Amino acid sequence: MTICLKKTLLALILLSGRCIAQNPFGNPLVPDMIADASLQQIGDKYYCFATTDGYGRGLDTSGPPVVWTSDNFVDWSFDGIYFPSAEKQKYWAPSKLAEKNGRYYIYPTINAYMYPAVSDTPTGPFRLAKGEDKFELPYTKGATLIDGDDVGGIDAEVFVDDDGSAYMFWGRYHVARLKEDMVTLDSVTVIPTPHREYSEGPVFFKRKGIYYYLYTLDGDENYHYAYMMSRESPLGPWEYPDNNIIAETDSTAGVFGPGHGCVFNPNNTDDYYFVYLEFGRRSTNRQTYVNRMDFNDDGTIKPIQLNLTGVGAIAGKRSEKTLAPLHVSASSVRSPLFIEYMKNPDFKRTEYFYPSFAFDSMNGSRWMPASGEAESWIMADFGKLVNIERSAIYFVRPTSIHNYRFETSLDGVNWKILQSPDNGKIKAPANNLINDCVRFLRVTIINGEPGIWEWKVYEAGGTE
Ligand code: CA
Repeated sequence: MTICLKKTLLALILLSGRCIAQNPFGNPLVPDMIADASLQQIGDKYYCFATTDGYGRGLDTSGPPVVWTSDNFVDWSFDGIYFPSAEKQKYWAPSKLAEKNGRYYIYPTINAYMYPAVSDTPTGPFRLAKGEDKFELPYTKGATLIDGDDVGGIDAEVFVDDDGSAYMFWGRYHVARLKEDMVTLDSVTVIPTPHREYSEGPVFFKRKGIYYYLYTLDGDENYHYAYMMSRESPLGPWEYPDNNIIAETDSTAGVFGPGHGCVFNPNNTDDYYFVYLEFGRRSTNRQTYVNRMDFNDDGTIKPIQLNLTGVGAIAGKRSEKTLAPLHVSASSVRSPLFIEYMKNPDFKRTEYFYPSFAFDSMNGSRWMPASGEAESWIMADFGKLVNIERSAIYFVRPTSIHNYRFETSLDGVNWKILQSPDNGKIKAPANNLINDCVRFLRVTIINGEPGIWEWKVYEAGGTE
């Protein structure tokens, strides 16, 4: 290709704002940066507890605790903080929930120590289960999951067996029984794995009477998962299958460093899903993906075919029909982000930020304006008058507060400002009722990280 042709193509891209360049991040589970996800179904709802990434300071920080919920596995939302006293703490890797006597227990790693917390409902509010509900540094004495002199450890994962007995797994191959109170550990042992290097992000589940223990190895683009199985108990004895690496980098599929996640089994099904974080934009700027997990007749796990496409809706009602704009424009477009590799030179990624990425139904692509712009806006033109019921916006970094102005127009010249009930709330998506026949929508971001992962516009009477 000649330089002249390259320049012409670039000009065309810039003029049209269309996504000629590919989105290298596919369609992660939710439109945010999350890691260490724990998914489960309670009643008819899916719950995703995770580390909130994307705050830009590596392991020094995290976002607040929010729980994403969905009733179809495609449309996800959260509303507020589920663990108020932990809002400003460094909040990592909440486990799945364990239910006991009508109460829900969760075991997050907070400021790099594991704590049991409890609530009367799955969405909180949670509080520390032992002692006062407050955090001290380096840790709150008497409130950590591990007692004694050495209370360190990360990435707790709880497993409750069919007979009600509970077990706790955490980093560096640790396991312990959990006592009846759900907050105290019995004697701790180390699981005898064939691989012995550093490991975190344990996953534990049971299928057809077989117990599976999954553990991570390495990290960054080389993060991968190995497993063992036991036909007797959650504490072994263990079988070491020959092909015991089940998820690893697949550069052909564009998937790098599948790491800390979970295995999700919807209630009353034999469907299993491997949920994992991916290297993403390096450091703590990761997103979470889901692929099917299949088994051989002898119970061993087949190597997982990873891709960034996701599995779509797995149950529940279908997503409502959305309107696609004819043209999307914005106040500005951020320069492409070239992401450098850390360990694997096969890793090559550049992120583009076209306005149309806010409407491509992909949770891994986003519009972002140029850095430092005072008030950034994005505008959707539907090409004709359309009857719009409502809009739902997934802002970039939805766990920090956004203030925005929402406007509609018939002609792109005269604008009507609508009330935005979700201004200043920590929730996703941000919702606006429209119930009007208009051609243009415009959102101006006044406060908060400027950018939109996904903007869904619903037609009046468009339910399928
Ligand atoms: Ca998108």
